[in-house]
Formats: sequence, C-alpha cells, structure tokens
Amino acid sequence: MNAGNPKTLTEAVVRYADLDVCHAYMASLKWPDGCVKCPKCGGENVGIISTRRMFKCRNKECHKQFSAKVGTVFEDSPLGLDKWFVAVWCITNAKNGISSCELARALGVTQKSAWFMLHRVRLAMKRESFDKLTGEVESDETFIGGKAVNMSKSRRARHPAGTGFVGKEVVHGLIQRGDKAKGKASKVIATVVPNTKKKSLLPIIRTNVEPGTYLATDTAGAYSGLTEFIHETIDHAEAYVRGRCHTNGLENFWSLFKRSVNGTYVAIDAPHLFRYVDEQVFRFNERKTNDAGRFALVMPGVVGKRITYKQLIGAGPEGLRYDA
Ligand SMILES: [Zn+2]
Repeated sequence: MNAGNPKTLTEAVVRYADLDVCHAYMASLKWPDGCVKCPKCGGENVGIISTRRMFKCRNKECHKQFSAKVGTVFEDSPLGLDKWFVAVWCITNAKNGISSCELARALGVTQKSAWFMLHRVRLAMKRESFDKLTGEVESDETFIGGKAVNMSKSRRARHPAGTGFVGKEVVHGLIQRGDKAKGKASKVIATVVPNTKKKSLLPIIRTNVEPGTYLATDTAGAYSGLTEFIHETIDHAEAYVRGRCHTNGLENFWSLFKRSVNGTYVAIDAPHLFRYVDEQVFRFNERKTNDAGRFALVMPGVVGKRITYKQLIGAGPEGLRYDA
C-alpha cells in the first residue's frame, strides 16, 4: 500500500471519485503480473482504449473489447467503479452491517441496486480457505428466526407447526479461541445447516478442526463420537462453565450476529441467510484490522466470482422479493 491510499471513508470517496485510479486498481487485482489477457481468446496482445478505460484484444479473429470488471462480481453492473469502491468500503467497515436503504442513500442509487451490491460484496467477503482450527475450539449452534428471517417454503414443510423449529434457521459455529500470549485473536467459521443432527454437524467439524484439538461442546447427542478430538462436554442444564469447558466464545459471536441482524436488517430471506453469516464472520475475524486493511482484504475477493441478479432472486422463496 502506498501513501496515497485512503484511510477513512471521506478519503476513499475523494480518491475513488477518480475513475482512472479505480480502473488501475481493478486491473492490478485482475492481472497482478501486469499482463492483461483477453477473456475471450486468452490472447495477450491487448491494446488500451484509454478514453473509455477499456481494453481491446488485437487478435484479428477476436477483437473483444472488455473492461477490468470482466470476471469479477462487478461484471455486468451499469454502476461505475467509483460507486462500487465506496460501496465495498462502507459494507466492509460498517460495524453492525449496513442496510440496503442506508447504502442506497449514501451512494445515490436505488434500494434495489444497493441490495444487489450488498449481496455481491458479501460474496467477495467470503473467505475461500482457512487453515484448520487448532488449540482450543468450541462448537455450538444457534437458531436465527422469528421476525428476522422469512422462512423458505421447503423449510416450513420440513418443520411443521409445533416442532419448535417454526421460523427458525440453524447456524452452526466453530470458534478457535484467541491466544493473548501469542497476540492471536479468536477466529470463527459459521455455516447455515438444515438441522442439528449428527450428519449435519460432524462433517463440518471434521473438515475444519485439526484432529487432536481440544473441543468444547454442550451435551447434545449429535456431538457424540468425536473421538479424534480431546472432546469435553458441558451440560447447560447444570452449569455454563467448567474450567476451560464452555461455549462462551460462540455465545458472544451469536449475540453480535443477532444484534446486527435485528438492528440493521428489516428481514432476511432464509435462502440468503448464509450471505449475512459470511459477512458477520468476516467482520468478526477481521475486527482487529483497520478500515483500509479490511478494504484491501475484500477487494481481491471480487475477482473470479460472479453472481447475477437472476441467481440472487431465484434463491428467494417467492421469487421476486428482496430482503433488507
Ligand atoms: Zn481475444
């Protein structure tokens, strides 16, 4: 990062109002080695149409014109990179999340555009790979629901009235506890799961936690048989803490998540819940990073991912609705 990089939202708005700056930044993310490749034919003989901040393939059979947005979550968006960059800044740095209404007002776009932008940026916030969790790890689930989540039709069918699951979605979490002596902050992995059964939870634990790790859970039957870990259970009917056996780290994460869901968003459609979970996980795991650092972490995540408006609204239970 050089000295010209913004540190605050105000500085970001000023800096990224310059479309040439945005264009150069995008191109550097897209083609880190500086060698621009044609997305159609893969050719490297590419010219620049500087007046339009576009590239043009010089291959005679191709002649494809493209921008640095190609193959990123910004592709096909009519909104300029100036708006996109400020959106990424606002979304990644809003402490409790930002609603589509707030974002729409801040950027001067429609709420529908802002909603779409939020989901695209959430996709960029999703971290693709993690090292396996080690040290001391907690596993626990929470129910998100009631007014905050509009349940999908299929879910309603699976959990008819009276089963205790009505209007509730299950989110499973793992937290690797922080280590103050080593200056390491705690880290969360959270996943929306269909239910709290063994077959839904154990594969997630086995995929994400190093064998031999200390693992604290409650006494739920789903957690039995995790013999490859140093597994201790606490019966919440009796106590919440017994030495290092507790799930307080995750309780804290869940309460932050619920505060953000209830305080910021009017309603979340159940099929989109995982995107809000991803957003919260990013915010939590990068809580020690500063605003410029979070922005710089998310920006490379826009490359190589795409989601269309059709894909997004297709995920909704009633088709053409969009949540907060
Ligand atoms: Zn080409």
